[in-house]
Amino acid sequence: MALRIQFYGTMMIVLKRRVKMKSKDSDLIGMICYLKPINNNELNMINKYWEMNSSDFLTFSMKVNKIKALFPDLGIPSAFVPKSSEFVITDKEFACSKCGSFPKVTNRTNYLAVLKNPNPVCSECKTIAIQSERKRKKDIIDGYNASLFKKDYDLVDLTYIEKINLFLILNSYYNGDKPLSITNENLDLSGSQDFDSKLFAELSHKGCLVIVNDLPDEVQEAYDAVYGRYSRLQYDYDDKRSKYMEPGELIKGIYFNMPKQVEDISLVIAELYSHIASSKISTSEIQQITQLVEDIRLSNLYQCIDWLEQEEFKIPIEKNMKLNSLLKFISKNYSLDKTYYSMWYHARKTATYIYKIGSKDFKTPKLFGKFLSDYFTEVKARCWKLKYARSLPMDVNTSAIESLICELYFDNEFNWVSLNTTEIVSMWVKKLDITDTPLLKI
Ligand SMILES: [Zn+2]
Repeated sequence: MALRIQFYGTMMIVLKRRVKMKSKDSDLIGMICYLKPINNNELNMINKYWEMNSSDFLTFSMKVNKIKALFPDLGIPSAFVPKSSEFVITDKEFACSKCGSFPKVTNRTNYLAVLKNPNPVCSECKTIAIQSERKRKKDIIDGYNASLFKKDYDLVDLTYIEKINLFLILNSYYNGDKPLSITNENLDLSGSQDFDSKLFAELSHKGCLVIVNDLPDEVQEAYDAVYGRYSRLQYDYDDKRSKYMEPGELIKGIYFNMPKQVEDISLVIAELYSHIASSKISTSEIQQITQLVEDIRLSNLYQCIDWLEQEEFKIPIEKNMKLNSLLKFISKNYSLDKTYYSMWYHARKTATYIYKIGSKDFKTPKLFGKFLSDYFTEVKARCWKLKYARSLPMDVNTSAIESLICELYFDNEFNWVSLNTTEIVSMWVKKLDITDTPLLKI
């Protein structure tokens, strides 16, 4: 009579059934667990499959082919047995070194493989170890990110010029959790690199901007491990790449750090605008305005010179201290369009002169500066007014600051081209409410 093993609906009954397997010292090496209800014939085949030599638990008492011949109705033992049973190795020598769980195998090959490796770490423990290491690394990253953005500030504490610039930055480059979308090509604030880089340093010092460059080694290692080795490189084809980025990934770049008391970026922009439009400044801020206007103008003049030097006449022009002081003097006293005509005229004169004498003379790069300086010395001595203006080269653009200030305060100008810096500062400051008492926080 085929004896059916009773299966009471719980795996425990079946799992508790066991057949003793002898190891070389006669201890129990493991037990068979039957995974589903089986008849006597099936039970016998499973037991035969797992039966080891009484003297050696590394060899099986019967070859699989012979077992197959004994139970022809049950098909191939190595197919049937793994579906119906597993062998749990209960010898402590092979238990997981971390959690003590016993390894389970479903066929002879697995069994022999496990016996080659005493006290392994089980796959659950490996997964837990990987997860906890990943969590440790993410904690390092999160802690670092939090430390970058922990500085708080109040918009009221920014200077008038900083407010203008932050307003323009947020309007043009704000990009959610990603860095501001500023590149060398699209950066348009003052047009002056010197001014812009000083401004970024100042805004980052005050906590408004966070500049992320190289990470500390420990954080970089954590990034490599969690996000992959090249995750922090930013590519031009940003859109394509962003698909593969995990949220929270810190790319190199400049970030806006939201003041803690304001919840939404549009509120920050609105508050900045209302500060700017209220036009209140202290006397000390007039110097910042003057500096900004002079920086913008000087940068425009150098752009004009670059154009004349590299595009229009292809003449060498040495940019030295003398030329710089001359340009500063010109900025204060003459408009950009008329200055440009004079520069163009003297660049043409330089080109003709070089054509005549050849370009090998070491003085050649100084010629333009000399001609221009001689001319303006005379203009000044004779109190001449500059008569002619010339349209600016393509490369010279109205900066974002210039446009905003014209819109806010200059009734009849949309740029500063026909004004000198003294006029610009005076027209601008005239529209401001100068107060020497510090602005009170509301
Ligand atoms: Zn384990």
